[in-house]
Amino acid sequence: MARSRVLDSMYTPKIKFEFDQKLDTEMLWEFLGDAKKGGFDFSAEVIKNHPALKNNTSKEVVKKYVANYYRKHEKELRDAKKDIEKRWKTVESEFYKATDKYFEKLSWPKGKYIGYISINPCGPRFLPNKTWQTPYFWPKEAIGQIIHEMLHFLFFEQATKVKNTHFKKDQLWHLSEIFNDIIQKEKEFVQIQGYIPEISYPDHNRLHKKYLLIWKKNKTARKFIENSTAEIKKDF
Ligand SMILES: [Zn+2]
Repeated sequence: MARSRVLDSMYTPKIKFEFDQKLDTEMLWEFLGDAKKGGFDFSAEVIKNHPALKNNTSKEVVKKYVANYYRKHEKELRDAKKDIEKRWKTVESEFYKATDKYFEKLSWPKGKYIGYISINPCGPRFLPNKTWQTPYFWPKEAIGQIIHEMLHFLFFEQATKVKNTHFKKDQLWHLSEIFNDIIQKEKEFVQIQGYIPEISYPDHNRLHKKYLLIWKKNKTARKFIENSTAEIKKDF
């Protein structure tokens, strides 16, 4: 019914920012053992930021390292969280305006919408409950990264509403990243982020142009998914 549709489209998530040391331990441990994805070496990224974890083979050691790190960097972490909270507040309404435009007022899926301010440099997102980690040591990129993860939640929601795609999990993942490489360069997002992001995964460099042309035809997420379905199946 028209009325409830209007109400639905007015739901915009309120992001909460929190710390979760246990999640940091889990994720650092996982990424340390991870192979490359999309041409990006996550394990190397962890070691670059936490050289002490280089030769650690036990999760218990990682747990202690995380607790110690939090103790040592308590003020920095708290300040970073405050700063990110403040900055997100100043851009959130512009962000939701931009997503309404490119996603044609698609309703945001329900979820927790918690951004965990994190010491993990990999910034994973957790689709089922709409939470993610935001590395605290990149203040310049923090807003862009939050936008990136939020766009994923809306993109995967949109994908469920496009019929007959039958994506394999990996194909949809690649398409979601290629989509972000494109949409985060649109003027509204560049304005909010304060910078033009680079292509996230090296493997997608060669594909960027082709999908950009598909995007430019309609500039809506729905049409982009419809028109990219056959292509992404050829590419991955
Ligand atoms: Zn991503």
